[in-house]
Amino acid sequence: LYNQLQDLKGNIRVYCRVRPLIGGHPNHYGTINNIDEESISLIIPSKNGKDGKKTFSFDRVFGPSVTQGEVFSDTQPLIRSVLDGYNVCIFAYGQTGSGKTHTMSGPNKLTEETLGVNYQIRNTSHNGINVPDANLVPVSSPSDVLNLMNLGQKNRAVSSTALNDRSSRSHSCLTVHVQGREFASGNSLRGCIHLVDLAGSERVDKSEVTGDRLKEAQHINKSLSALGDVIASLAQKQSHVPYRNSKLTQLLQDSLGGQAKTLMFVHISPEPEALGETISTLKFAERVSTI
Ligand code: ADP
Ligand code: MG
Repeated sequence: LYNQLQDLKGNIRVYCRVRPLIGGHPNHYGTINNIDEESISLIIPSKNGKDGKKTFSFDRVFGPSVTQGEVFSDTQPLIRSVLDGYNVCIFAYGQTGSGKTHTMSGPNKLTEETLGVNYQIRNTSHNGINVPDANLVPVSSPSDVLNLMNLGQKNRAVSSTALNDRSSRSHSCLTVHVQGREFASGNSLRGCIHLVDLAGSERVDKSEVTGDRLKEAQHINKSLSALGDVIASLAQKQSHVPYRNSKLTQLLQDSLGGQAKTLMFVHISPEPEALGETISTLKFAERVSTI
């Protein structure tokens, strides 16, 4: 039932979320000219003083004053379809500092006292790819899941870049497997949801990073563009979907395409300094969008 409305719109949705200006008023939009339910337009400054505008359309656009609760309730039908046995993938894409982690996990952090709980942990393999560091952890309550997310958060590679001193240079993926029984028929249903907080999408200036950091940046860019290629080809209903071009897309292959439902949150920062990345982010998003 939850799926009826969702299915009308196709299996891939792209939502855009704009975070508030840092230290600014939520009604001040920075480089953003206008936001409505399904589109966003940017002010593109030009040298001759006549600023241009560029408009991008998405399934939904959330402005800076939209609360966590509103975003959450908008994703409820999708999340509930997991209970109907669907596989769901929710991605957070955007440059570092644009609000990916805020959308996926909220601003709260795990405290020291809650660390070190005695979960039953074992290695697992997924889609035939061994994920040596991944743990399959049974959970029985929402707070178990929250604790786990925060633990994962702590374990993510965090390194300094010129852009931000707490920049996440890794993808983080939380998968929740759900098993249930249908009341009417007694049939058992299995679904799963992947919550993927992607590494920052910003292009790294080659003059500012070297060695391992540069390799890492190139790797991130490669995996993000591979993800973009997969989603774009699914959105365009192409027969060949290039899952094999990155570990990320290989890992999520079962949950991208087919009967699976995908939601990409693209995040943008409204600051003038971020305009270049904001434009690239929106172009990326437009490419993976069905509309
Ligand atoms: P990212 O994960 O993309 O690097 P974060 O989620 O850490 O970015 O967000 C950067 C900062 O902006 C954090 O301090 C976060 O709390 C704040 N922030 C992000 N989005 C919002 C929002 N919609 N409303 C209020 N604060 C936000
Ligand atoms: Mg983050």
